[in-house]
Amino acid sequence: MLYVGCHLSSAKGFAAMGRTALDLGANTFQFFTRNPRGSRAKALDPDDVAALNRLARAHGFGPLIAHAPYTLNPCSQEARVREFARETMESDLQRLELVDGCLYNFHPGSHGGKGVEAGIAEIAETLNAVMAPGQRTTVLLETMAGKGSEVGGRFEELREILDRAAVPERLGVCLDTCHVSDAGYDIAADLDGVLTAFDRVIGLGRLRALHLNDSRNPPGSRKDRHACLGEGALGQEVFRRIVRHPALAGLPMVLETPNDLAGYGREIAWLRANCGESENFPPAALTHRGDYDTLTVEDC
Ligand code: FE
Ligand code: ZN
Ligand code: FE
Repeated sequence: MLYVGCHLSSAKGFAAMGRTALDLGANTFQFFTRNPRGSRAKALDPDDVAALNRLARAHGFGPLIAHAPYTLNPCSQEARVREFARETMESDLQRLELVDGCLYNFHPGSHGGKGVEAGIAEIAETLNAVMAPGQRTTVLLETMAGKGSEVGGRFEELREILDRAAVPERLGVCLDTCHVSDAGYDIAADLDGVLTAFDRVIGLGRLRALHLNDSRNPPGSRKDRHACLGEGALGQEVFRRIVRHPALAGLPMVLETPNDLAGYGREIAWLRANCGESENFPPAALTHRGDYDTLTVEDC
């Protein structure tokens, strides 16, 4: 089964995101756990989350992805920022226990000059402080573009964090196609080569989700600017291969392209039409109501 969806606004609650996903032909989606620039989280309404859980079960949704604020930095040079990361992740993970089949994706962080090894040690320390053996949510390290002092642009760096995990069975990786290309893994030219490298260094068993984004910049540019599928350096063909790839089957794949919801609906329909499974062909009519908030996800 192809699990495909897009980033959605959580402004109208959890069940509303589930209904929007259905409208767009999606069977997974991603949302920010709180204002992406940080700050306070709204308390979860247990009835609203239960309604989403029922909707997702009834419609055979794949795992959902909660995205941590992108300002979160567990290896910041500033103690205050590191402390904010720890508190935020701890409280996000507590709240997400209500959501069935949830993945919690975060950007590992930027070491700010102290060096990648020191950064890795602090990231692992934070993870081990906030994760507990009984938790239901799996935490995902996102592959990064390697912009500035970002940790996670190299698969080896993610592997080092995974190796230090106190709860390894609840820690995995989310592969962002724009980010890996920008980091120098030429996924458009050599998808199998990049997946082989991932498998050798990290292990494909650790791959739990994908972000499907084209890139405005060529491989190795370390920029992190997303483009719509087929409109950037990656081109459409690699996305056709990704949704057909046996090693990626069953993983949730979420778009973070610069789109409004109608655009997401078209990209989801295109992915379904190209995944090679007849049961995934798009519904005859996409019932897009056109009354959603538009949102851009430049910083995912
Ligand atoms: Fe992200
Ligand atoms: Zn990005
Ligand atoms: Fe991403």
